[in-house]
Amino acid sequence: MKEELNPFKISQAQLDSAAEIMNLDKAAHAMLREPMRTLTVNIPARMRDGTTKTFTGFRVQYNDARGPCKGGIRYHPAENIDTVKALSAWMTWKCSLANIPYGGAKGGIICDTKSMNDTELENVSRGYIRSIGRFIGPDKDVPAPDVYTTPQIMAWMMDEYSKMVGHNEFGVITGKPLEIWGSEGRGDSTAMGGMFVMREAVKNMKMDVKKAKIAVQGFGNAGMYAFGLSKRLFRSKVVAVSDSQGGIYVEGGIDYDKLVEVKKKAGTVQAYPGAEKITNEKLLELGVDVLIPAALENQITAANADRIKAKLVLELANGPVTPDADAILFEKGIVDLPDFLVNSGGVIGSYFEWAQNISGYYWTADDVYGKLDTIMTKSYKSVADTQKQYAGKGKKISPRMAAYIVAVSRVAAAMKTRGWY
Ligand code: NAD
Repeated sequence: MKEELNPFKISQAQLDSAAEIMNLDKAAHAMLREPMRTLTVNIPARMRDGTTKTFTGFRVQYNDARGPCKGGIRYHPAENIDTVKALSAWMTWKCSLANIPYGGAKGGIICDTKSMNDTELENVSRGYIRSIGRFIGPDKDVPAPDVYTTPQIMAWMMDEYSKMVGHNEFGVITGKPLEIWGSEGRGDSTAMGGMFVMREAVKNMKMDVKKAKIAVQGFGNAGMYAFGLSKRLFRSKVVAVSDSQGGIYVEGGIDYDKLVEVKKKAGTVQAYPGAEKITNEKLLELGVDVLIPAALENQITAANADRIKAKLVLELANGPVTPDADAILFEKGIVDLPDFLVNSGGVIGSYFEWAQNISGYYWTADDVYGKLDTIMTKSYKSVADTQKQYAGKGKKISPRMAAYIVAVSRVAAAMKTRGWY
């Protein structure tokens, strides 16, 4: 992996920049540059042909000063320890910015789910929990789904952990199916949270959310819900959308229900009737009010940042804007709201699930969305206020740096109060 693309080096560089601006204590900075605990495990699993294969898995607990560690588990052939370390750092900042009582963690297994059947997936998932079981728990570290892991996998993992400890422990993992006490509203909480942030940002920028023209890159769990919700909640107009095969543009706005139907039948948004077909690159460069990257990382880079025309970039995907592009957007006066603010609705939904599991009292979807709105609005305001505060001292800082400062200060304050430095 090239040094400048190593996600852990990027996460450390982002922390270093924030530490300098906020004048972070040297001891706190040193502690926060590395994870507290890094675990690598070998997982033997029985395969369909009767042989046993050994898989490598990771769990990184980055920091738990503010509460149990929290973070998803990825299954990916290219999974590696530096990616897991970076993601665990970002989870720490995400939970702290949302001001929920968690530290950060992440896990992963090197495997290719596309070549595995359900029995093999179940064997590997249960084996992973047997390997890391002593290090997790509702008050230690609470995993969740991520890339290529599903509610069903979370169910197997919860079941295996419960067998290990000898009683049902629903709160050990989130993202579970509703049958075993997942939470109402968890499915679209990421996009819903992003929409609450959009509403606040647009208001702050003196734009009218009802008149906002939006482009969405990606039509999966994050992008599709964001499109549907922007229409349902605010009646905003989505003029462009894309998937891995390319995008479409409709000046007068795209009909959401029709698009869902088309995508289901044809497998691509490009089959939408009467639309102008555009590339994913072109979609990013449209003159819209709000651009929502909701697909992959590294989409806005130094190569195209200069051509971005949106007034607001809402990072619903993880890492869609590279650090050098971030600086260019900031120079151009484009408001680029960072991923660990915009997509934190997912982990907040997980927090609600865990809170319900450990209390045994279950909420309605309206309860969940109402509480999510309160937290997202507060998080956005803490970022906007921090930017203002620094501007008052003559220092212009980006929303990403402001979000880092809020998040890092809280973790550092918890470590200080506990006497860690
Ligand atoms: P998904 O797999 O459901 O959907 C991804 C979408 O992106 C698909 O529509 C796919 O066609 C499209 N896509 C793939 N390659 C593309 C390309 N080159 N150009 C345009 N579109 C492309 O994934 P998701 O859950 O929606 O996640 C999307 C992003 O949001 C990821 O970065 C993920 O980490 C982030 N995220 C998701 C959640 C969540 O709850 N789903 C939570 C936090 C962050």
